Amino acid sequence: MRMVLLGPPGAGKGTQAQRLVDRYGIVQLSTGDMLRAAVAAGTPVGLRAKAVMESGGLVSDEIVIGIIAERLDAPDAKNGFILDGFPRTVAQAEALDKLLAEKGMRLDAVVELVVDQEKLVNRILNRAAEAQAKGEPVRKDDDPEVFKSRLEAYNRDTAVVSPYYQARGQLQQIDGMMPIDEVTAAINGVLAKAA
Ligand code: AMP
Repeated sequence: MRMVLLGPPGAGKGTQAQRLVDRYGIVQLSTGDMLRAAVAAGTPVGLRAKAVMESGGLVSDEIVIGIIAERLDAPDAKNGFILDGFPRTVAQAEALDKLLAEKGMRLDAVVELVVDQEKLVNRILNRAAEAQAKGEPVRKDDDPEVFKSRLEAYNRDTAVVSPYYQARGQLQQIDGMMPIDEVTAAINGVLAKAA
């Protein structure tokens, strides 16, 4: 199973991706996680990405395409993968198509979690409050102001990715405002048809 999970920040992509990993035995490839790891490790990529990420902007296509290209070649991705947070621009979507074509692979499904953006801001406020209550650190980019910039970046740059896949007849849209288990069931329904 090779799939892309689309939707704005806070739509629940991470939660759903984790469930798909367990169900299908595939790896979750989250460019956000990879970039955060690079920042924490202080690698050259991390040093270049840090300030952009903290401001809620997009890291350059060149950097993220590079890390995904490398990651798709890792042995654990052979069985399949779920891309979470990538592609975020049309250039990244085109680069992904090219990378997969070179390997003789194709995407089995592209699923978009469609959400109400105003309600999302409340969801993110809860995520920050829950983390704080558990004594866990709040992600810097879950700060409400930063979150709003991330939504703006999504609307400005990433909202065009869904029409890219729609035009190719690959896009499946799911209501991401449903309870988590119902979203999972809807995704499984789509994937059952795709497999
Ligand atoms: P995420 O955890 O997916 O919300 O990503 C956190 C941050 O990492 C984003 O706000 C961006 O700054 C950066 N990022 C993650 N994935 C990408 C991508 N595909 N293209 C550009 N920037 C990205």
